Amino acid sequence: MTQFDPEKIRRDFPILHQRVHDQPLVYLDSAATTQKPQMVIDAVDRYYCLDNSNVHRAAHALADRATTAFEHARRRVATFINSPKSEQVIWTRGTTESINLVASAYGRIALQAGDKILVSTLEHHSNIVPWQMIAAERGAHVVAIPIDTRGDLDLDAYQALLDERVKIVAVNHVSNALGTVNPVKLMAQYAHSAGAKIVVDGAQAIAHFSVDVQDLGCDFYAFSGHKAFGPTGIGVLWGREALLEQMPPYQGGGEMIETVSFAGTTFNHLPYKFEAGTPDIAGAIGMAAALDYLENIDRAALQAHENNLLKTAILLGEEHGLQRVCAPQQAVGVYSFLMPGAHPADVGTLLDQQGVAVRTGHHCAQPLMAHLGIPGTVRASLSIYNNLDDLHRLFAAIAKVKTFLLQ
Ligand code: PMP
Repeated sequence: MTQFDPEKIRRDFPILHQRVHDQPLVYLDSAATTQKPQMVIDAVDRYYCLDNSNVHRAAHALADRATTAFEHARRRVATFINSPKSEQVIWTRGTTESINLVASAYGRIALQAGDKILVSTLEHHSNIVPWQMIAAERGAHVVAIPIDTRGDLDLDAYQALLDERVKIVAVNHVSNALGTVNPVKLMAQYAHSAGAKIVVDGAQAIAHFSVDVQDLGCDFYAFSGHKAFGPTGIGVLWGREALLEQMPPYQGGGEMIETVSFAGTTFNHLPYKFEAGTPDIAGAIGMAAALDYLENIDRAALQAHENNLLKTAILLGEEHGLQRVCAPQQAVGVYSFLMPGAHPADVGTLLDQQGVAVRTGHHCAQPLMAHLGIPGTVRASLSIYNNLDDLHRLFAAIAKVKTFLLQ
């Protein structure tokens, strides 16, 4: 493990060293997607230059190499999240597809008319809409777990909602809109005592702190490569083996079968049962390189660095008269704010003109925005390559935006 050195880390990310609108880029949109270190770019490049071939039908050397690297990547993910077996790691296109897979395949066997799915008010649309779709199909209901004024889940209300009709709880580990870290380990215990299963959307957690699926005690855990320094188009669904075994396939096609005839088809074993078609081989290899990169950093020091940046952003925001949207007890990576008197979209555009990339709008969390009674927020999201300079640039730009918009 190398010592945590933010300046060295910055040098590992080539994209950061460019000018945007004639200003050095300040990238504060990592909650949307993280940038990629050279090591990941090289791994994908090397694969396409040297090894590209389809996997699992290894009649030649390239196919053998591609298969070995692809399956090594699966084992890499398994170790990273402490999965008991690598067969429990299913490749998907990302968090969205992982949740759709659980909703469709597990929802179909677990839900009866009148059953309930609890989904938190903090969720991204990708952890709401798939549940609404399967609920409509099965005659079940999606019920929201409320939040308090700080932006934390109301755990008393959650416990009260957990009756015998609840079959599934779906919650994010970290909210992309507010940065709230949810107590998913405790929530899993509550869900299990009520006889429900818990699906955790880890899209915003995986790059910020270590995730141990066994320690969390969750039933499913979903995340995307691109939110953790890997490529887009690749993601993971982790599931308990017994549940994955019970679930029917999600999509039909090549790779997910054992035998096919017009009389009927038998399905492949885990994980291939859920991996119809040619997978994103380069994506999986790139994702494994990203996890190697991340694991080579002192993660405790990294977390302290990110926490320090967030605290500084909150303080500077107060000094500049910004209104932080909620103040969760524990938050990572996200500083969501409003500039009183200014529309978030205008603030975002004027920041961009000064080379500062933030995201504005509802952050795919419209029910949360409706609950807060706001159209959206300005979100500055932080990652391993951000530093205090980035924050000073952000707030210098904010001061200019204020002069421009509010005078
Ligand atoms: N959940 C959360 C909390 C997210 O932040 C995102 C991405 N913004 C998603 C799910 C969806 O991830 P993807 O688009 O990679 O499938």
